Amino acid sequence: MKNYQKLQASYLFSDIAKRVNAHVEANPDEKIIRLGIGDVTRALPSACIKAFHTAIDEMASDSSFHGYGPEQGYDFLREAIAKGDFQSHGADIQADEVFVSDGAKCDSSNFQEIFSTDITVAIPDPVYPVYIDTNVMAGRSGDWNDGRYQGFVYLDGSSENGFIPDLPKEPVDLIYLCFPNNPTGAMVTRDQLKLWVDYAHDNKALILYDAAYEAFVQDESMPRSIYEIEGAQEVAIEFRSLSKTAGFTGTRCAYTVVPKACMAYTESGEKISVHSLWNRRHTTKFNSVSYPVQRAAEAVYSREGQTQVKELISYYMNNAAYIRKKMEGLGFDCIGGENSPYIWVDAQCSSWDFFDKLLNNAGVVCTPGAGFGTCGEGYIRISAFNSFENVQEAMERIAKACNIRILLAHGA
Ligand code: PLP
Repeated sequence: MKNYQKLQASYLFSDIAKRVNAHVEANPDEKIIRLGIGDVTRALPSACIKAFHTAIDEMASDSSFHGYGPEQGYDFLREAIAKGDFQSHGADIQADEVFVSDGAKCDSSNFQEIFSTDITVAIPDPVYPVYIDTNVMAGRSGDWNDGRYQGFVYLDGSSENGFIPDLPKEPVDLIYLCFPNNPTGAMVTRDQLKLWVDYAHDNKALILYDAAYEAFVQDESMPRSIYEIEGAQEVAIEFRSLSKTAGFTGTRCAYTVVPKACMAYTESGEKISVHSLWNRRHTTKFNSVSYPVQRAAEAVYSREGQTQVKELISYYMNNAAYIRKKMEGLGFDCIGGENSPYIWVDAQCSSWDFFDKLLNNAGVVCTPGAGFGTCGEGYIRISAFNSFENVQEAMERIAKACNIRILLAHGA
């Protein structure tokens, strides 16, 4: 309980909701456009729906019914993932290194559990808050002090490093990395990622690589998986999700790759297989994803599914490009939106001030960067998950609000 008491209540989304509700009450006829929360807005691909229906029909008959499945996932899905997401991109990942789950949120939360509580953890700032909070819950932090927990090594993002953090100056044991990044939309190059893999080798550290937004990578020269980097299999595990890739946020299916070559070390330097630790944890605490969901997930890897998923991603990426172009046109520096559905905008004022300005002057909801860590102050995150019509209207309204501000500044 004492660890949970250290947790700072996250007011981010409840504060956003409070401000939005107050605005709606005061302006009941205004249409609010939400470009804040990172949930998808478009339907599941029809290939997934078809597979889902067929699997549900199987469940309706005693002869084809499925009860408990293998905890790690059905072979048909593990094989489709290993082939479709890794082997076809030159990464030698085998089906039995894939652990199917109901979400990258759970996996990225739970993975730390297999390690001691006295290890040193490096966490980026700004960050997807799950990595921090779960390590606080586990007892790896000191108290909250001046906007940060003591005991963690924070990896600062800034406009100087393009929100790709520098390597830690001290040795650490566990490193969280997320690319394409939530919230900043930044994407790492192969050379930058190689530095992290080398660091992990040199320091016997383990990288927890969150690639939940991998499907949004457009630049062929960028790594879609950490396993495209030589030596990564020994020092990294990777989280993936169908949530944003194929619209599974409400359907729930994700997976974690734990290569058999991946090793952790005891205090005395003894090598331990991370695969066997995670397999033990997963089979003890998890009872697999439902059969129809796994069949729907398998359909993502069919030829039809791949075409539909690409179309889905292109739709959001067209929104992202549009947002970035318009915000830059208005004079704001931006990161992201090129290989990610998030655009990270330098607000030129405090995150919450800019949030209020967009809400009150344009009726547009974004996410204040300060909610993702101290290094997020002064930025906002705009999400591309909405219809193109709404994105277009939001950008028109923001442009209008900016023009009014410029006129006001000139005393007109
Ligand atoms: N990892 C990152 C970086 C995310 O932004 C999200 C969701 O927003 C998740 C993981 C969660 O994915 P899932 O829906 O598979 O739990």
